[in-house]
Amino acid sequence: MRDFARGGARPDPLGLAFDAARGAAVRGEVPVGAVVMRDGVVLAVAGNRPRTDRDPTAHAEILAIRAACAALDDERLTGCDLYVTLEPCAMCAGAISFARIRRLYFAASDPKGGAVENGPRFFNQPTCHHAPEVYGGLRESEAAALLRDFFRDRRP
Ligand SMILES: [Zn+2]
Repeated sequence: MRDFARGGARPDPLGLAFDAARGAAVRGEVPVGAVVMRDGVVLAVAGNRPRTDRDPTAHAEILAIRAACAALDDERLTGCDLYVTLEPCAMCAGAISFARIRRLYFAASDPKGGAVENGPRFFNQPTCHHAPEVYGGLRESEAAALLRDFFRDRRP
């Protein structure tokens, strides 16, 4: 747990999420990173790991939510905010809702796999019982470039 509130340095949660996304790219993962923060304290930082862990559910958001729950010893992340470099998919949107995340901040929107502004628009469904406040499009060009470079470099 990194306590910026006491350390004095201003946390940059989205910057940390971008660092985690770059770390994921180095492992050959789709570059997505996520950070959970509460009251100025970073509770969890995670990058995508499905290939590394042989686990299709090992998206950055899921791993960050699990780690934050472990850090707080709670199955809910009441009052916590999630920062992600890419619009969450349907699975992660579900986890965000179940975790009772307060605010969701994300960078690039994802017309192909996103489920917040695109596709199922999970938080707008009547069967969604907790929706976070959503702030999208932050540092969008940086996030889009990260993904574009990753997929370009993977082409033979
Ligand atoms: Zn996901």
